[in-house]
Amino acid sequence: MIPPEFEYHRPETIDQALVLLTQHGEEAKILAGGHSLLPLMKLRFAEPAHLVDLNFIESLRGIKESNGLIEIAAMTTESQLITSPLLLDKCPLIPDAASQIADPQVRSRGTIGGDIVHADPGNDHPAIMLALEASFVILGSNGERIVPASGFFLGAFDTQLEENEILKAIQVPVSVAGSGHAYCKLKRKTGDFATAASAVSLVVEGGVCKKINIALTNVGATALKAEAAESILTGQTLSDLLMEKAVEKAMAICDPAEDLRGDREYKIHMAGEMTRRAIREAFAKATGGG
Ligand SMILES: Cc1cc2nc3c(=O)[nH]c(=O)nc-3n(C[C@H](O)[C@H](O)[C@H](O)COP(=O)(O)OP(=O)(O)OC[C@H]3O[C@@H](n4cnc5c(N)ncnc54)[C@H](O)[C@@H]3O)c2cc1C
Repeated sequence: MIPPEFEYHRPETIDQALVLLTQHGEEAKILAGGHSLLPLMKLRFAEPAHLVDLNFIESLRGIKESNGLIEIAAMTTESQLITSPLLLDKCPLIPDAASQIADPQVRSRGTIGGDIVHADPGNDHPAIMLALEASFVILGSNGERIVPASGFFLGAFDTQLEENEILKAIQVPVSVAGSGHAYCKLKRKTGDFATAASAVSLVVEGGVCKKINIALTNVGATALKAEAAESILTGQTLSDLLMEKAVEKAMAICDPAEDLRGDREYKIHMAGEMTRRAIREAFAKATGGG
């Protein structure tokens, strides 16, 4: 299908983009990689009268480190995440997850910012952001605010981002010694969204799990933080018994919709299995076995 007519805008600075968004209000939509927005426009589920393309704003691309934080500009593509030496060295969960998103065509244009803001329950970055305790740098006509990933995702396709605000960058802490990460994603085929997936980020000291974050993809209206599962493992040495208790707690918060990828029971079971695998893999990496 062909989308309805719209006016196309190509700002070259963030300020120009903010002016356009303020000027056109709810009639405007930001265009990033277009891999979620354009299909919606073709189906006429989204009918913006003005498209504000962020692709020509240089300051919205790139990855840098300062003061113990890695800052990823929102228009950085999945392909750029996968090949970033800085991320591979200091935050490997992001390239690992990005390499499991869609296919090379989508990854060459799809952006981390678009994936987060779109907040499709099947999008992978929201769970990764929760597991990494990321924060989002958001710009609006009233200036800049920094919002933690925890609490940012309100529901399916719904976030704390206000209309006409721009997600400028994502901040994630640099991995500390003893860290381990894993993203285990079950999908039916290359290019499909997750049937269920689990992101784990943990720190192990002297064989004890000092800290663990577990977040789930596509088994609820939005990415889910498995806090009860985390509590079971925090301060403990990993054992099969504790692992199974944690997996049970993670499964208990799942509320997936039945669709072509499977029924509820299957998806919940798979969320448990992905969590079990991700915890094991992250522990192995943290203790030098991965
Ligand atoms: C075949 C296929 C398979 C896919 N599989 C997966 C998958 O397995 N996992 C996955 O996570 N995703 C998957 N996707 C989605 C893909 O990752 C999209 O690229 C992503 O959801 C949106 O990013 P985008 O840059 O394309 O954003 P766009 O489509 O351009 O925008 C999406 C939304 O975000 C808003 N937006 C974008 N950037 C900003 C910003 N900086 N500030 C404020 N608002 C902004 C737009 O206005 C729009 O509402 C798939 C897509 C396709 C077509």
